[in-house]
Amino acid sequence: MTEQLKAQFTQRIVELQQRISAIHNDFADGRDADWSEQAGERENEEVLNALESEAKVEIQHLSNAITRMENGSYGICQTCGEEIAKQRLAVQPAATNCIQCAD
Ligand SMILES: [Zn+2]
Repeated sequence: MTEQLKAQFTQRIVELQQRISAIHNDFADGRDADWSEQAGERENEEVLNALESEAKVEIQHLSNAITRMENGSYGICQTCGEEIAKQRLAVQPAATNCIQCAD
């Protein structure tokens, strides 16, 4: 079960990395934009920057989760040491705290 989840996480990291490269390609395209479109491009850049940061944070969470799977601490709350509920992991697979400690 963990192996399957690990494969899913790895796949998700690849997708996120592809998204980040796509964002960088968009930036490269943006340099050719007409002067009149500069303001729009600027806003666009901010959005893309935000998307990139989000993707990077998610990659970080997922690789941490993979590390925890490897050392056997995956699914264990880092605060209280109790098992994290399966339902919670289903919604937030990279969760490091149980629902009680997350609040
Ligand atoms: Zn806890």
